[in-house]
Amino acid sequence: MKTRRVLVLYTGGTIGMEPSADGYRPMRGFAGRVSEVLGRHPGGELPDFDVIELETPIDSANLCPANWRAMADALMARWEAYDGFVVLHGTDTLAWSASALSFMLRGTDKPVIFTGSQIPLMQARSDALANVEAALLLAARFPVNEVGVFFGRQLLRGNRSSKRSSDAFDAFGSPNYPPLADVGIDVRMHAERLLPPSARNFVVPHFDNAAVSVLTLYPGVCGRVLDALIDDRATRGLILRSYGAGNVPDADGGLMAALERAVARGVVVLNITQCTSGSVVQGAYATSAALSRIGVVPGGDMMLEAAFAKLHFLLATERDYAQVCGAAATPLCGELTAANLLRTTPNHSP
Ligand code: ASP
Repeated sequence: MKTRRVLVLYTGGTIGMEPSADGYRPMRGFAGRVSEVLGRHPGGELPDFDVIELETPIDSANLCPANWRAMADALMARWEAYDGFVVLHGTDTLAWSASALSFMLRGTDKPVIFTGSQIPLMQARSDALANVEAALLLAARFPVNEVGVFFGRQLLRGNRSSKRSSDAFDAFGSPNYPPLADVGIDVRMHAERLLPPSARNFVVPHFDNAAVSVLTLYPGVCGRVLDALIDDRATRGLILRSYGAGNVPDADGGLMAALERAVARGVVVLNITQCTSGSVVQGAYATSAALSRIGVVPGGDMMLEAAFAKLHFLLATERDYAQVCGAAATPLCGELTAANLLRTTPNHSP
């Protein structure tokens, strides 16, 4: 059997950090350290791998949409030479990057597995080795034709994942889609949950950091806040994190008028819920009925990270407003449950 080869791309994050007077920061030459530590494995069960790193590994709190290109470019430049890819990333914005790469590498025929750790690899009690080893095995030996996140004990769909804990080893969750694999002594793949194979459609656009803003509703939020958020003409998309099933304070005429103004100006407003799980159903309550009339796009059960990355991707690749709105509400690569498959509770029927 042909030896499987995996490329490991280190982008930064705790996994490769060391303490400094100012707290943890990325160490130099981490790629070499990973190879050394993983290379000590006696069993020969790990696939062959190479480790590279981005020019300047970062604390992922410093990540910008513009950085997503560098990751995709690094993988695509070496695509044919490897059977799978592992991306080592800081946990803070790992789910945002995994989401972004899922849109850029649509129809991937090879696994792209993001992972990281809560404790640096070079420190005692680190969760890094277990995460990287499992990610390597998943990337080499399993038919995961999508961008995934492995952390703790589960492989999650990248564009369904979200960081849920700043200190637990199971740092990521996927509240609206079940895990793709459970990893214990055995690896239990849930093949029926994987994306079906599709044609390769890789697009790596230039992202404009200012293109998308996010507004989380809170009691007392007013139209002025929304106006200020999209004041910059570069802002062409707004993620509206509404209440519950997609509800907004419709009694506030000022806020509703600001939403209308935004849409009239050509801003794509994508409505997702600020709840940890569940979906937006515009019109389920009277407080969301006006949104569809105004032209606010229902984002179904997308996570914030996926909705944000998707809107960035669409605005960077598509000029036509109606096309962006249509695609934003349509599943592109498993990030969203199709409206007809969503389970609605009795509350959601008139
Ligand atoms: N601040 C770190 C980062 O996201 C946290 C981590 O990796 O766990 O880069």
